[in-house]
Amino acid sequence: MNNTANNEQMDYVQEARDHLWMHARSWEDMSKPGGVKIFTEASGTRITDIEGNSYFDLMAGLWLVNAGHGRKEIADAVYEQMQNLCYVNTWAYATLPAIRLASKLADITPDTLSKVFFVNSGSEAVDTATRMAKQYQFLSGFGKRYKIIARRNSYHGSTTGAQSITGGGFFRRKYFEPMIPGVRHVPHPYCYRCQYELSYPDCGLLCAKAIEQEMLFEDPETIAAVIGETIAGAPGVIPPPAEYWPMVRSICEKHGVLLIMDEVICGFGRTGRWFACEHYGVVPDIMTVAKGLSSGYLPIAAAIARTEVADKFKGGFAETFQHGVTWGAHPVSCTAALTNLAIMERENLISRSAEMGRYLQNSLEALRSHPTVGDVRCRGLLAAVELVKDKKTKEGFEADNPFNEKLSQRLMELGLLTRVRNIIAIAPPLIVTKSEIDEVVGIIDRALGDTEKALAIN
Ligand code: PLP
Repeated sequence: MNNTANNEQMDYVQEARDHLWMHARSWEDMSKPGGVKIFTEASGTRITDIEGNSYFDLMAGLWLVNAGHGRKEIADAVYEQMQNLCYVNTWAYATLPAIRLASKLADITPDTLSKVFFVNSGSEAVDTATRMAKQYQFLSGFGKRYKIIARRNSYHGSTTGAQSITGGGFFRRKYFEPMIPGVRHVPHPYCYRCQYELSYPDCGLLCAKAIEQEMLFEDPETIAAVIGETIAGAPGVIPPPAEYWPMVRSICEKHGVLLIMDEVICGFGRTGRWFACEHYGVVPDIMTVAKGLSSGYLPIAAAIARTEVADKFKGGFAETFQHGVTWGAHPVSCTAALTNLAIMERENLISRSAEMGRYLQNSLEALRSHPTVGDVRCRGLLAAVELVKDKKTKEGFEADNPFNEKLSQRLMELGLLTRVRNIIAIAPPLIVTKSEIDEVVGIIDRALGDTEKALAIN
């Protein structure tokens, strides 16, 4: 890079430090040399920064660029839609892209999931789903059913509603409490760190039974819905055991409680099926989707209800779902999503995700020999390597331990862009090839080895 280009880049870095409030990013981190990384281009599975360094995008952005970067077909469709009709009051009027996308989603989601309420983000989809559940219960004659049961160690977003439901320590709830009332949290089906200190299958799925215990304790007639990520992503890629969701489904049915499955990360082929609930043979009453719906080309999300749920809202003003946002069903975002789904179907990206996922899983298993690798979990192309300080006790690295930061830097030096926290997050675009998986796993192996050596961990 010549001097002028370097100066220009430094100007941008300073401008970012002065004016760009990055999400949940500390000022201290942004102030470090290299703390503001600027990306300018991407194509396929790779992304390039302003200095011209190219990286493999191992987290597909934030678990979402499923169709891969640089799809001109989506850009062209969006351009055309913007010229034809960029916006109309979507509370009052329908558009062709919104109708087509709603029908498409009704088609690809399982069973009677068929009525689609569009919003802009996963958090909004979660807020929508819980409000839908509450109003559904009210319209069914159960005005007292307002509580939501969620799981500890879950992530459902960052609006106040979604944060209240989120069970992890994300975003330092202590600053914002009290959260919305009526949310109860039960243990997560996290076998590697079972809260009951039991082992599957001898545990008898106590984590699923805990949901019924909580309902009985609270009085089932006060519970509107149970919500969970089908496979939790952000908290650590945690696939529940096979029996978990069928058990939760029957508990909900027994007590007249709706089941909301959050597929914001898992949807659209990420786990090797269109939706992760298909692995469990369970259909939720409401499903939340976002991210891979448009592969990130434009923001769009939705809460999708079963016909049986949506039918309760049939009627006049009193039955109308009292909810809405300006950008819901935005015709340009709907166009991006429709084109994205067409690409996924044409290129068989769902079955490809299943096939490449099996290959990835086998490759990742070899990493278990590292002293810092506690567990490896993979479902389709959603995977994690869980990092531990002590393999026997499963103690994780403390927040101020340099391991995660050093590992992250080493991965980047070796050309891999991803997030390292309690896990190395692995969620490549679904177009990833076997040789790219070999390259990625080889780099993780090397970066782990180099970091362990640098910190004298053995
Ligand atoms: N639900 C799940 C399962 C998520 O993983 C996320 C975000 O990662 C959300 C909801 C919130 O989505 P958004 O960040 O688009 O609001």
